[in-house]
Amino acid sequence: MQNEKPRGNGTSKEHSLIILKSDAVEQEICLEVLRRIVEETSCRIVAMKIARLTSPILREHYAHIADKPFFPEIEKYMMKTEVWIAILEGRNGCIEKIRNILGATNPNDAADGTIRAEYGKAEGKNIFNVAHASDSTEAARREIPIFFREDEVSSLMPDLARRIWTDATEMQTQNS
Ligand code: ADP
Repeated sequence: MQNEKPRGNGTSKEHSLIILKSDAVEQEICLEVLRRIVEETSCRIVAMKIARLTSPILREHYAHIADKPFFPEIEKYMMKTEVWIAILEGRNGCIEKIRNILGATNPNDAADGTIRAEYGKAEGKNIFNVAHASDSTEAARREIPIFFREDEVSSLMPDLARRIWTDATEMQTQNS
């Protein structure tokens, strides 16, 4: 993705991996959250699945927090119900716009009107914040192949599939 800027402020296509977590499923707000994101950012949903996550997948996705004391609670929360997982595609800074629609990680710090302020909650040391969205182009490239196989998106997004899964295969080869 040599021509794509990390925060995507140009016109190149950006992608974001979205997860609507168990509290979004239980509150039945998944469609509402997706509708807000799509309407307010003009991005489109290019892949979507409903699935129950596993500990190995969560440890890979959340590698940066897997050793934190709060991680076991996050795992339980993420595996409590099936979750909705989507790839969104857009332009003009949509990655950042989506993050702004969700609000800060801790719902207590999230600005009024954001999804996490409205529907999320912090209970003691635990944060239940409704939705995940990639925070950069690099994060999306790392996260998307954790949840989607190439054949699940290649016909919809041949360019992205070529970039992401070819890169992932090359990275594995280099590391082996
Ligand atoms: P974000 O989801 O906003 O990208 P992170 O990737 O840093 O934030 O964290 C992943 C998830 O881990 C958060 O959504 C939240 O549920 C949980 N989390 C992060 N930091 C904390 C914390 N200090 N205490 C409890 N849970 C946390």
